[in-house]
Amino acid sequence: MRIVLISTPIGFLGSGKGGGVELTLNSLVSGLISLGHSVEVVAPKNSKLHESNVKAKLHFVEGEDQISWQHQNYNSPVSIPDNSLLTGMLEKGLDIAKHADVLLNMSYDWLPIWITLNFEIPIAHVISMGSESSVITNLISKVYAKYPNNFAFHSKMQANDYPFIKKPTIIGNGFNLDNYIFQDSVKGPLAWVGRVAPEKGLEDAVYVANQLGEKLKVWGLIEDEMYASKIEKSFPKGAIDWMGFLSTNELQKELGKCRGLLNTPKWNEAYGNVIVEALACGVPVVAYKRGGPSEIIQHGQTGYLADPDDKKNMLYYVEIIEKIKRQKCREWVEKNASADIFANKVVNWLNKVMNEYK
Ligand code: UDP
Repeated sequence: MRIVLISTPIGFLGSGKGGGVELTLNSLVSGLISLGHSVEVVAPKNSKLHESNVKAKLHFVEGEDQISWQHQNYNSPVSIPDNSLLTGMLEKGLDIAKHADVLLNMSYDWLPIWITLNFEIPIAHVISMGSESSVITNLISKVYAKYPNNFAFHSKMQANDYPFIKKPTIIGNGFNLDNYIFQDSVKGPLAWVGRVAPEKGLEDAVYVANQLGEKLKVWGLIEDEMYASKIEKSFPKGAIDWMGFLSTNELQKELGKCRGLLNTPKWNEAYGNVIVEALACGVPVVAYKRGGPSEIIQHGQTGYLADPDDKKNMLYYVEIIEKIKRQKCREWVEKNASADIFANKVVNWLNKVMNEYK
């Protein structure tokens, strides 16, 4: 199969601004290549693919980023900046896709979905968020009526945000397991990993660590400075150990030393890459029982699911986290979320999409 992939229009690959999509795209590219498919990626200038993806051709586009939908009002209209990166990537992707089998869009935005109605080539969409915009959700509904197979979701809970989709295609997510080394660090610190932005609920994790008299190690891009400093001010000095944004290789080395990861999303998290990355290093996870995390974590086996927004319940589970066998965490990822398993699901789905156009 010849597949052209369109990246997120928010930040170059490697910047961290695109969140989990950056890692998902890399795992998918390597999984597809190892299955023998040819892959071209259209991405913002300065993007880098992981070293293992040298076989994929990368096309650069320059332009202005989109505003992330989770930071706009649900009813906001679509806005497209002058010299739009998204428009540029789409134009290039459509042009290359003339000689390919399918265009695979990984940006959560209006334009690539709308164009599906107006082009005769197969355009498939990995929807990376829950319903964060009325205009996009309504458009998905309209495109779905014509092309019922063109959308895939990371989890059932995420797909529930789009109730008009009768039998959603769930692809989960995939991870290059060679990039994560198992560590048996039962006595390490507590970790939190993610974009530092309100929908990620960092404050609840700081509360839990602080109740235990511990510093919380926080890795990730500070997307919202005001939010970060507000949290910092509401806890005693030094409650947070800001560790910055690291490459996957550096992150997994540090994360593997921790005894647990706290995951505290306030929104319907589509999947939660950081959970699986922690599990791959042998780190159990305590998360709120909502969105993708509630499908990934096996309660009592690979971590615990606390009642949503109930910090005390989360604290209770963190106190018994040593009951989880770290080897079980790694095993779950090997059996359920490798890059190959993921790529196979995506290929099956893309075949269905392409069949609609025959
Ligand atoms: N991440 C990273 N380095 C860091 C912290 C986070 O590369 O120091 C990456 C992490 O690997 C994950 C992404 O940031 O792929 C966050 O994705 P997630 O699905 O957890 O949430 P999203 O940002 O997409 O909402």
